[in-house]
Amino acid sequence: MSDGAGTKLGLLERLAEGPVICAEGYLFEFERRGYLQAGAFVPEVVLEHPELVAQLHREFVHAGSDVVEAFTYYAHREKLRTIDKEHLLEPLNRQALAIAKEVADDTGSLLAGDICNTNVFVGSDDSRLAVRRMFAEQVGWAVDAGVDYVVGETFTWAEEALIGLDVIKSTGLPAVITLAVHQDGTTGDGWAPEDACKRLEDAGADVVGLNCIRGPRTMLPLLERIRERVDGHVAALPVPYRTTDAEPTFQSLRDPGCDLIPGDRPFPSALDPFVCNRYELEDFARRAHALGVAYLGVCCGAGPHHIRAVAEGLGRTPPASRYSPDMSKHAFLGTDARIPQEYKEYADRL
Ligand SMILES: [Zn+2]
Repeated sequence: MSDGAGTKLGLLERLAEGPVICAEGYLFEFERRGYLQAGAFVPEVVLEHPELVAQLHREFVHAGSDVVEAFTYYAHREKLRTIDKEHLLEPLNRQALAIAKEVADDTGSLLAGDICNTNVFVGSDDSRLAVRRMFAEQVGWAVDAGVDYVVGETFTWAEEALIGLDVIKSTGLPAVITLAVHQDGTTGDGWAPEDACKRLEDAGADVVGLNCIRGPRTMLPLLERIRERVDGHVAALPVPYRTTDAEPTFQSLRDPGCDLIPGDRPFPSALDPFVCNRYELEDFARRAHALGVAYLGVCCGAGPHHIRAVAEGLGRTPPASRYSPDMSKHAFLGTDARIPQEYKEYADRL
């Protein structure tokens, strides 16, 4: 999208004109594809198979994402230390940003940097300092790469999110901050999500909201409260799983019908039976947009078909919509005149 003079519009200019779609969920998609290990969940694929990361960025843009988000989720110091590869921290970040930038430039998409939950924040002064340092180095690399804005995502603790926001805003770039709300419906600090979002907005966040953890059904009620509480843009990027009031998060889902799953829960590697279909994501996008949510996407578990469904829920026809289902030409179920009557009559026996 451009302003007609060939200049790419920024995030805030695009939000002023309408919703923005941002595909997330790279970790789960590469895990499924066999290039990333569940558990540590470190995106080494960025260095090992950059071509695949570029390709997935392109698939998400083809499906309707307005944003190429650099795959730096969990590419932070704590995670790389955990797998004894701290020396890869800077190369991994710079490579992820370069890959994303190339695709964003090619496709006219926004380029987003990304920071996330550090897993070292514990509410002490030492941890606040450690978190700030981790954010500062990653945001610095994002600035070097020329990102349009920075996402800070999946924060259980709003206070950690506030530190991330502070680091992002010190660069002058727009900040999208999204919180992860677990089973009890509050942040790790014990704040209501709408109060946490309000504090983030008051502290300068350009977009506030929720990502990950909750599926469409259990994220929507929280979004309604956030929308009422904050004045600015709201973000919603659920996981595409059928969470329920009893099991409101994808980590809390249980599958009593299957006794083959290692451990006590389907998360993260046996969630397949809970995956939302595209129509559920389309419906979510429509409902969230009707609430006034302007920044939409899908997190862990998202496939390109989910992103296309979000785009179509907003009334868009991204390039991938060329291949959206048209059952009229199905061999048995179709209505097309060229399908033999005998096949149409056989349809009930399928
Ligand atoms: Zn996620």
